[in-house]
Amino acid sequence: MVYRDYYEILGVPRNATQEEIKRAYRRLALKYHPDKNPGNKEAEEKFKEISEAYEVLSDPEKRALYDRAGHAGLRNSGFKGFEDLSDIFRSFSDLFQEFFDFTFEERGYSQKRNGADLSTEVWLEFEEIFQDKEITLDIEKWDTCEACQGLGYDVTKGTKSCDQCQGKGRVYYTEGFFRVSYTCPECRGKGHSYNEKCGSCGGVGRHRIRKKLKITIPEGVEDGALFRYPGEGEGGLLGGKPGDLYIRVRVKPHPFFHREGSDLYAQVKINFVSAILGEVIKVPLFGRELEVVIPPGTQPGDRVILKGEGLKDWKTGARGDLILQIQVEIPKDLDKKNKELLKAIANSENLSKGSLTEINSLNGDELKKRATNKRKKDGFWERIFGS
Ligand SMILES: [Zn+2]
Ligand SMILES: [Zn+2]
Repeated sequence: MVYRDYYEILGVPRNATQEEIKRAYRRLALKYHPDKNPGNKEAEEKFKEISEAYEVLSDPEKRALYDRAGHAGLRNSGFKGFEDLSDIFRSFSDLFQEFFDFTFEERGYSQKRNGADLSTEVWLEFEEIFQDKEITLDIEKWDTCEACQGLGYDVTKGTKSCDQCQGKGRVYYTEGFFRVSYTCPECRGKGHSYNEKCGSCGGVGRHRIRKKLKITIPEGVEDGALFRYPGEGEGGLLGGKPGDLYIRVRVKPHPFFHREGSDLYAQVKINFVSAILGEVIKVPLFGRELEVVIPPGTQPGDRVILKGEGLKDWKTGARGDLILQIQVEIPKDLDKKNKELLKAIANSENLSKGSLTEINSLNGDELKKRATNKRKKDGFWERIFGS
């Protein structure tokens, strides 16, 4: 058998870069691809030849060996080239997908199986969403066996046509008038079997591994947000693509703060004197301290809005507000001296004594009637509830 020079086959110089080698192979693979040349034995041989050349020259180790010791050196190291076309498609499935932008799966050259997607949940404390959060996940999963690339057999020992089905993948038998067929149990429909199991994975094609994966969860992330990490799922078989990893982020509620969108809400208790006279209070906010001005005459339930002090919208980057709802604490008991002081204030300010407001003294029907009567005239409801 005469071996042609691999560089000559691909038409590249001996010092060609990996990029040049790949480009040359792509051009030739397009030309001699069996789908483009159905039934053309010559093209098929050419396709095998360029694929073998690429197989060697694209692998730095094999290329070095070939440069040093030629074909003989390669063969002595156990290199065999490709057995058949399906062997090529299996080995280069990712490459061809890149070249031709389609997969050979449906064409029966291989029975690729993509890896399963994985999903997991990550819980964050509420205080952890105020900055980007780096997390290292410990993931246990099936990963494609490196030794056999998920094929399950020792590729150096090759494959053989299945004896039981003669490579058809199905077994036929006759029952009365019927010819019945079923998937070959020996090769499970593949039509071929291997000579030896992969020593590394014992024929499974995958290994159970633990992997540490570092991820960054963006500041302001919302409870329930879903993140996708392509290719971080389980490994594929027979050249199939790995699955994706999905991470659902959960955020624990906080006893004092809650969020609506990127706005942050909290209740702040002040004493009644501060409510009347106004005050500057300090509000702790997850590592920061905000000075908040309570204006004089603040009413229970009033809101103080601090623009831009809320959470970052993790999609747009815009900042929400911090909205403080003011509760006024009324002392339950005062000593005699202070009671006298308050009475004196009440008298001097001529504060009105408590009484039922009109709205509370009306029954429901009466209220409704008044509402419809008065709404148009003078904005009765607007005066009560504000507009
Ligand atoms: Zn079989
Ligand atoms: Zn293996």
